[in-house]
Amino acid sequence: MRLVVANWKMNKTRPEAVACRDELARRVGSLGAVEISIAPAFPFLADVADPEGRWSTAGQNCSSERSGAFTGEVSAAMLASCGCRYVIIGHSERRKYFGESETTLAAKVERAREAGLVPIFCVGETLAEREAGLTEEVLRRQAEALERDPRDAALVAAYEPVWAIGTGRNATPEQAEETTGYLRGLLGRGDGLRVLYGGSVTPENARNLAVRRGIDGFLVGGASLDPSGFSEICRLTGPGAPV
Ligand code: PEP
Repeated sequence: MRLVVANWKMNKTRPEAVACRDELARRVGSLGAVEISIAPAFPFLADVADPEGRWSTAGQNCSSERSGAFTGEVSAAMLASCGCRYVIIGHSERRKYFGESETTLAAKVERAREAGLVPIFCVGETLAEREAGLTEEVLRRQAEALERDPRDAALVAAYEPVWAIGTGRNATPEQAEETTGYLRGLLGRGDGLRVLYGGSVTPENARNLAVRRGIDGFLVGGASLDPSGFSEICRLTGPGAPV
C-alpha cells in the first residue's frame, strides 16, 4: 500500500496540532487505500495519535544513543512507547543544521530497529551536486548508513532532493521516477521496501508524481500543515484517483 507521511517539522502549538488532528479525522475517513503517518513535534505525539488507527505516528528524529545522560535527546524506544510506527532518519535538515554523519545515521537506524520502529530513511542531493552529475554518487554514499541494516526488514526510503525541499520547486515526474528507481536498485531489497518522493509536493503536483512507476508515496513537509491540502494529496496518491 502507498504511504503518505506528514512531516510537520517545528511547526504548530499544541492547540494547533489538536485542531489539525480533528480536521484530518473529518477528512480521511473516505480516502481508501493509502497508508498515512503523521510526524508532529515530539510533545504532541500522544495528542496526534489516532485511536481509530486511520493514521499512525512517526518521530521526526531519534537519538543515536539508547538512553542516559543526553539532555534534550529522544530515544527510539521512547518513540515506540508513545505508539510510533516510523521514525524519520537522515532528513536533510538534520544533516545540514545538526551535522549528522553517515556513522550517526547508521547508529540511529540500529536504535530504530531495536525499538521495533520502521526507519523512513531520507537521501537526496543538493542542486550543485545534481548539476555536477553527482546525484547517484551522493545517494550511494548516503545509503552506506544502511549497510548493516537487515535486507529483509521493512524499510521506507525517501528520495528528497535538497533543492526541492521547502522551495516550491519540485523534481519533475521524470526526475523523481528515474532517481527513486536508482535508489530502489541501490538498496537491493524486495517487497519490504517502499520508496517515497519528497520535495514541495502539493495537491497540484501530487497526481502527476504518484502515477510514475516506482513512487510508493510521499514525504510531505509544508503542504502537510494544512489538513485540507494534505488529505487531498493523500486522495490523489491512492490507486483510484483521476489522472
Ligand atoms: C520535507 O521536509 O521532508 C519536505 C519534503 O518538505 P516540503 O514538502 O516542504 O518540501
